[in-house]
Amino acid sequence: MSDGNIPIGGLLPVSFLDWDGRVVSVIFTQGCNFHCPYCHNRELVLGEVDLLSQEWVIEEIKCRKDFLDGIVISGGEPTVHEGLPCFIRELKKATGLPVKLDTNGSNPDMLKTLIHEKLISCVAMDMKGPWDKYQHITRSNVSVELVKASLNVLRRSNLEYVLRTTYVPHLMSLEDLKEVQKQLSHDRSWRIQLFSSRKTLDEEYLYYAEPSPLDVKEFLPDVPVVGIDL
Ligand code: SF4
Repeated sequence: MSDGNIPIGGLLPVSFLDWDGRVVSVIFTQGCNFHCPYCHNRELVLGEVDLLSQEWVIEEIKCRKDFLDGIVISGGEPTVHEGLPCFIRELKKATGLPVKLDTNGSNPDMLKTLIHEKLISCVAMDMKGPWDKYQHITRSNVSVELVKASLNVLRRSNLEYVLRTTYVPHLMSLEDLKEVQKQLSHDRSWRIQLFSSRKTLDEEYLYYAEPSPLDVKEFLPDVPVVGIDL
């Protein structure tokens, strides 16, 4: 798709959880180039949702703009859609609100464009695991070099960014988390989120154990764990 047309599979009109300290609307794009088995956005990744009209989504956010501090574009993976820059331009023109992007980091060129054109104010990027396990964890052939390039784009920018790793005991060890910490030794904004078996892309993962927050905090005491305050 191009010319600002991107497939939108969902809209969360109000969220307090998706951009620290801000009240936001969250737009979910459909489709992803990764296939992480623990993904909880199964319908979006598999394209099993009815698409929303882009105009309707923009109008819905526009009528709430006075109560919002920003807009988050999440997925799926938003950067697989060529029309993303054009869509964000239209969104910002209609609402005047800052935009945060959630991404898996597989499209550094798109990231550069969005930053260069000042279309985004914040990025949350996934760090799926140690570099050598990336394709195994994401069940994709996407080159890990693209993710490294995206990380460098963020490091060189002045943008606020957050890096996050979902700890899935079936896929990685606590030592692997240590390895990720080494990869990100220059980045202070790394967070761990804990795998939930409530809803998963690969249905086998519905039966896998969830991690213990205490184990993670004991092993990596200095790294924030999302939703856990120990
Ligand atoms: S968790 Fe993986 S499969 Fe799911 S949206 Fe994110 S990158 Fe795509």
